[in-house]
Amino acid sequence: MSTSHKSFQLNTFELPRRAGEMKEYSLDIQVNENFGVNLISVPAGQTIEVDARLESVTEGILLSADVYAVAKGECIRCLDPVEIVIERKIQELYNYEPTNERGKKKKHDTEIDDLDIEDELMMQGQIMDLETPIRDAVVLSLPINPLCNQDCLGLCPECGEKWAVLAQDHAHTSIDARWAGLKALGSEDPDFKI
Ligand SMILES: [Zn+2]
Ligand SMILES: [Zn+2]
Repeated sequence: MSTSHKSFQLNTFELPRRAGEMKEYSLDIQVNENFGVNLISVPAGQTIEVDARLESVTEGILLSADVYAVAKGECIRCLDPVEIVIERKIQELYNYEPTNERGKKKKHDTEIDDLDIEDELMMQGQIMDLETPIRDAVVLSLPINPLCNQDCLGLCPECGEKWAVLAQDHAHTSIDARWAGLKALGSEDPDFKI
């Protein structure tokens, strides 16, 4: 999708690289583009709050975090605004970048698992890029087709009014285009009756 943004990068230089060391971070990440799925997303300019706890482990840094945000969109049936509060826990291991020696070893050992390795999250020096796990957390919290409520009746296709506020026998009596055509013919033919 898009390239990663600086605002998602956490510099972990304060966390000692000794297994068992911990550090907590409270982050307000401002998104600079709509962040979510097509019809509902955290709007550009809004903030995703992340309470993160980092723990040094042998192979890297373990991230545990609570992610909070509010996504906005429109009901696909009636176009009313829809808001979804996102509250999600994530936990991810960020591996240290392999040293040359370890990197080589890895290649020999796990050729079959190459695909898995590409999915692994990796520290970039001191930097932990939070975008991928946060994007996953947000996207998994959002419906593909947002509704104001599951029973939303939508709109009358003729007048665009909400079925919820219309009478049950609401109908439009206007003659549709085909009838209008016949009528026009009829008016030229004295024997023609509808
Ligand atoms: Zn609706
Ligand atoms: Zn109508």
